[in-house]
Amino acid sequence: AAVQLLGPAEIRDLAELLDIQPTKKLGQNFVHDANTVRRIVRAAGIEAGEQVLEVGPGLGSLTLGILETGAPLTAVEIDKRLAAQLPLTVQQLAPDADLTVVTQDALRVTTLPADPARLVANLPYNVSVPVLLHLLEHFPSLRGGLVMVQSEVGERLAAKPGSKVYGSPSVKAAWYGRWFTAGQVSRQVFWPVPNVDSILVGFEVGEAPGTEEERVRTFALVDAAFGQRRKMLRQSLSEVLGSSAAATGVLESAGVDPTARGEALTVADFLSIARAAASSDD
Ligand code: SAM
Repeated sequence: AAVQLLGPAEIRDLAELLDIQPTKKLGQNFVHDANTVRRIVRAAGIEAGEQVLEVGPGLGSLTLGILETGAPLTAVEIDKRLAAQLPLTVQQLAPDADLTVVTQDALRVTTLPADPARLVANLPYNVSVPVLLHLLEHFPSLRGGLVMVQSEVGERLAAKPGSKVYGSPSVKAAWYGRWFTAGQVSRQVFWPVPNVDSILVGFEVGEAPGTEEERVRTFALVDAAFGQRRKMLRQSLSEVLGSSAAATGVLESAGVDPTARGEALTVADFLSIARAAASSDD
């Protein structure tokens, strides 16, 4: 059923009612444009009956758009005032909706009332990458999602090896699946207007390339390689692998050029290094 979405007047009224001053610390920029909400929901490609997870529902702009599809939704919000108001807003504008609100820091959730299949969110910008990686680690039921993030972050998540912006978030994200950008979003659709540009990013979860233990080892190598991204791998990995000579040996047995830099490597290359390091430990 069609749901009335929140426009500038509704956002202003709700903010006044709750007496909230949006905080930068929590990345509180609320969407007050129904077209943007419908665009996000359409791009998210929610399938019938799919359990949806939203992080940071805020005043409910995107929440109502997701609920309009009829999908069962769990929304995780850290701000107690916003979390308390959300069911009331939804009760009024989408009374038949299936919404569960969880008042918690998304970086700390490890269980939810229902296993989420799809993530749809306008993420708090300062923690968007940690939130994505945390959710992908703890909720293997996730099959894909569509999120709005700061443009630079979105470009990084979707970057391929060799690109200027390819970095640790790109490799870690690629562990979980395929990522793609799905269009810019104007600053004007937010209240308050943020000082960064936004972009939509989609992902489809794939089969994990390795075990959980291998993932942890791979991510440690990725952090080391990009912590000193201008250095050759035999240097940047010398500390985690023991010495420059040990790093050279491991890289060679993994089939990776010791003089290459992290920015040239795929997630599969980093996994090969992790496996070579583990077998040289035995
Ligand atoms: N979804 C709403 C919209 O589109 O208008 C609000 C998006 S706003 C960019 C980010 C939201 O995330 C805010 O409601 C904020 O309170 C919430 N938030 C910030 N940090 C969070 C965290 N660690 N866990 C859960 N929610 C968080």
